[in-house]
Amino acid sequence: MTFNFWGRSLTLNPFTLIKDTVETVVYHWKNKSINWPMAIYITLVHMAAVLGFCTIQDCKWQTCLLAFVLWPITGLGITGGVHRLWAHRSYDAHWSVRVFMMLINSMANQGSIYHWSRDHRVHHKYSETDADPHNAKRGFFFAHMGWLYVKKHPEVIKAGRTLSYADLEADPIVMFQDSMDPWFALFMCFVLPAMVANRGWGEDFWHGFWVAGALRYVMVLHFTWFVNSAAHMFGDHPYDHKSWPSENPFVSICAIGEGWHNWHHKYPFDYAASEFGVSTQFNPTKMLIDGFAKIGLVTNRKRAVGAWSKLKERRDNEERSSGGAADKIKST
Ligand SMILES: [Zn+2]
Ligand SMILES: [Zn+2]
Repeated sequence: MTFNFWGRSLTLNPFTLIKDTVETVVYHWKNKSINWPMAIYITLVHMAAVLGFCTIQDCKWQTCLLAFVLWPITGLGITGGVHRLWAHRSYDAHWSVRVFMMLINSMANQGSIYHWSRDHRVHHKYSETDADPHNAKRGFFFAHMGWLYVKKHPEVIKAGRTLSYADLEADPIVMFQDSMDPWFALFMCFVLPAMVANRGWGEDFWHGFWVAGALRYVMVLHFTWFVNSAAHMFGDHPYDHKSWPSENPFVSICAIGEGWHNWHHKYPFDYAASEFGVSTQFNPTKMLIDGFAKIGLVTNRKRAVGAWSKLKERRDNEERSSGGAADKIKST
């Protein structure tokens, strides 16, 4: 069974999938390269999410609404917080915004800002190589979540040591969160939503825990992982034809504006992580950063539109001149 999915074919043959999966597990088992603590944790939270899904019918509507709104709220802690602010330094933020971002980032519970930024900087510098933590050349599943199940490739560890994280170490908000990891993040992710639902509208604590905590958490995890998998494999490449990252509208909806990934890898310092404005490309993260800028809490928003228009002009000129040369050859 082969699907033509945004220009690339995707084979979904159940027999091949099962065979490949078994072979991969056996390979990592023999090599002792399974990351057991993380593999057990990721498996457990997925079981908790299934339990959350089965609990939805027993929940009050306010709890379901809380789970839903925590998708963009915690998503923003990843997209606007650890990604665009800390990993890429694409804008500057007042300490109050950084505290807010740190808190909602902790609710998203994807590892500390320090560790997430470190992996992400390595990902950008060494995309689609052995040194890329979620190298998409190792397949969709590895790029999506498989990378968390196995120990890091030695090249990833080596590459991680070559980059500087001094800016992160100098930020007390980042280092506070890192020093409290993982307990603070676990509390913010699972316990706090359950407490809000319990105290706010009398919901059963565990209903809030499984639905607004676990189920919402795992959904947002997958939405984030799609950036590393789907947005590295399916979509257009208008800015850098040779790179794997793609312009993927589906991922942008899931990850509140992070699917414009061909642009983002070409210009990682751009705070919008996309070429166009929010009326053309879905990007709630940009809207929020702009909102903070309007009230003076965010400054120095970097954009790459000028650099791109210059490059585009040069490319168009080159194309015209090579086209003109081809016409000349044809006419002789
Ligand atoms: Zn990427
Ligand atoms: Zn990035």
